[in-house]
Parts: sequence; structure tokens; C-alpha cells
Amino acid sequence: MTSDPTQTLDPDLVLAQASALAAHLQRMGVQFLPAENPDRVGELMSHFASIEDGVDAQAASSVSPATSTVKPNDAKSAPTKPASSGPTPGPVSPASSSVQAPSRSVTAVTVAEGDYVGPRLEPAERGSILATLQAEVSGCTKCPILSSCRNQTVFGEGNPNARFVFFGEGPGADEDRTGRPFVGKAGQLLTKMISACTLSREETYILNTVKCRPPGNRNPELDEIANCRSYYQQQLSIIRPEYIVCLGAIAAQELLKSKLSVGRLRGKIHQYHTSKVLVTYHPAYLLRNPAAKKAAWDDLRLMLSDAGISV
Ligand code: URA
Ligand code: SF4
Repeated sequence: MTSDPTQTLDPDLVLAQASALAAHLQRMGVQFLPAENPDRVGELMSHFASIEDGVDAQAASSVSPATSTVKPNDAKSAPTKPASSGPTPGPVSPASSSVQAPSRSVTAVTVAEGDYVGPRLEPAERGSILATLQAEVSGCTKCPILSSCRNQTVFGEGNPNARFVFFGEGPGADEDRTGRPFVGKAGQLLTKMISACTLSREETYILNTVKCRPPGNRNPELDEIANCRSYYQQQLSIIRPEYIVCLGAIAAQELLKSKLSVGRLRGKIHQYHTSKVLVTYHPAYLLRNPAAKKAAWDDLRLMLSDAGISV
């Protein structure tokens, strides 16, 4: 007699195995949020397929980050690759690389058309308005986990009248300790990248999508990014830079309201209100994948040539 296999399923065992699988996938960089309905399964399938070849099948404008049910964990590591054991990285230089420019073209994204919201501030008043906002952010408790884990908020710093803004993901341990953005190892590389552009860190402005350190250096959750959104929006609206450089997928996908990978978004000039937007790899990714530095340098050079700066 053959037994009916469905009779032998132990619901507790199935649940335990499903949980173990979910935990495994999460460790592999795939985060699950509750699916809204079974129809999303098809969407998830195509998303998984797109993660595999590093290309997102979704159109840039079709899905906003706030409604996605699964996302690649590639903010600092897009596209997913094993850590490199290559030479110790130096500053981004045109010399060192094998990363290709994107092979398939993607149309530049214009996410927020028209001028920034609200009046354009006089250069002289921007610093004090930013300081007022910074004081407000320092007491923010909109994210229960982040606000209880942080040592301090990391608002952003730099020139309130910056022509160039660098937009990162969120504070790490060094930033949480010092209250300043991009001061750890990745920050040191960012400073070198800025110098390679013949700019000084001080003449730019540096900020992140979230102002509090996600514990254990995990990616910020979508609801945390949403909670913090109005702060960076206000910062950018006060500064109104000519160029915004998105560092990594979290920053790029958030600012451009896209689900495309860095590999698809880079190499183009996008638009956010009146600012031109460039996308490149996160410095932490470049530290692990020095071969991508050539591509990052190409991205910066695209911006510099558009800005009329020769390097
Ligand atoms: N990585 C970021 O994205 N931001 C920082 O401020 C530091 C590291
Ligand atoms: Fe507030 Fe932003 Fe910190 Fe969340 S991450 S608690 S919204 S400052």
C-alpha cells in the first residue's frame, strides 16, 4: 500500500522548514515582506529572475519602493558578487579596471519634474535653515528601532550652497559615533573620489537617505526610508544643487523612485527637480570590488564633463 504523502506532512515541520528557507534567503540578501496578494507571485518570480542576471525587469516608473514586496540587498554590493581579495584599493583612478559600462541602455529617469517645492532660499540663509532642520532631526523618534539603537543622528554636512551633493545610504558605526556622514573606510574612499574630481569635501554636501544607523549595518527598511524621506527632501530643496551623486542602490532607487540596479541606472544623467542626478557604486562596494572603480570614475567623469570641469 502506498501512503498519501499529504497525510504525512507535519505542519510544524513545514513551518520550521519554510522559516529556515526564508532566513537563508534573507542571509543571501533577499528580504521578504508580506505579499499583498497571490498575484504578486508572478512579479516576485520576474524579480528573482532579474536579480540573477543583475538586471531589473521592472520598468523604472512602474513600482515605487514603498510598494515593493521584495528587493535586492545590493545597496553596498550591487551587483551581488563574492568579496574580492584583490589589491588594497586606492583612490578611484582611471587605470584600474575591468568593469564594463552597462551593455543595455536605460532611459534616463525624470522623477520629480519642475522646480523644487517652496521658495528658493538666498544662499546666506540656507545654513541656518539647515541647522534648524538638523535640530529637529536630532530628536526624531519616527523609527522605533533606529531611534532607540542610535548614539546620535547623522544629519549630513558640507556647503549649504554646494554645486555637488553626494547622497549615501545611512550611517555606519563610525558615523553613528561621530555624528558625521562618510567618515569610516568607505567615507575615506569617498573623500578621495571627491578629490579626484578636483573638489574638496567641504565644498560639497554629503547626506544619507536615513539619518540613524541601522543596527548591525543592515539596510534601512522601506518604512524607515519613508519615515526619513522628508528630511533629505528638505535638505535638497534648501541646497538645490546642480548635481546629486547617488551612491549605491538604496540611495539611487529611493531618489529616482526606481527598482533598477546601479548597473542599469549608471552612465546616464537623470533628473530630480532641477538637479541632475548621477548614479554610481557605493564606496563600500568599491572597497570590496576594486575592479568597479573604473566604472565609478567613468560616472564621475560624465558628471564633470557635463559640469565643464576638466580632470
Ligand atoms: N555609508 C553610507 O551610506 N553613509 C555613510 O554616511 C557612511 C557609510
Ligand atoms: Fe527619524 Fe530618520 Fe532616524 Fe527614522 S531614521 S528615527 S525618520 S531621523
